[in-house]
Amino acid sequence: MNRYIYGDVSLELFKGDITQQEEMEAIVNAANAYLRAGGGVAGAIHRAAGPELEKESMRLGPIKPGEAVITGAHQLPNTYVIHCLGPVYDRDIPHDKLLADCYQNALDICEEKGIKSIAFPAISTGAFGYPPEEAAEVALRTIMKKMPSLKNVQLIRMVLFGEKDLEIHKETLKKLM
Ligand code: ADP
Repeated sequence: MNRYIYGDVSLELFKGDITQQEEMEAIVNAANAYLRAGGGVAGAIHRAAGPELEKESMRLGPIKPGEAVITGAHQLPNTYVIHCLGPVYDRDIPHDKLLADCYQNALDICEEKGIKSIAFPAISTGAFGYPPEEAAEVALRTIMKKMPSLKNVQLIRMVLFGEKDLEIHKETLKKLM
């Protein structure tokens, strides 16, 4: 299963690169507390956006696990980047609540700004060590729970970097539906 629809809102699972989501209004960065470039998703996003993104984002830091802030997208093909700080699995407790907060806060920002489409990477599942199966369940459950209340957002895309992560999310979505 790679799609779930509730009313006018679609959730889709996609294999790809978060920096190449041309048709999405906002993309989410798996940020670090200081909103600096760095590695993984943050490295890829900052490389593609150019140095002006870091100049803008750094002024908004530091942020705490679960928090989200919004900037422009600079040279990316999107309008906005929403920077979420996921929990470090072994350190930031309760990790499931903090991870859910990321997805919720990012979607709340979209609702406030009238953003219609948003692409998320699998927050915390890289350097922050969140087991991908557990993270997929938190992410999809949180998004699905929020879908009925969304008034502006119409498309939510989870962008998974590898085939294995896509499969994990497909299985999880099937289970949750
Ligand atoms: P965190 O620090 O929150 O764990 P990472 O950036 O280290 O974030 O990784 C989060 C997830 O994003 C990992 O599953 C990683 O494989 C994946 N990832 C890395 N680069 C990209 C990319 N360019 N597009 C989409 N996903 C990516």
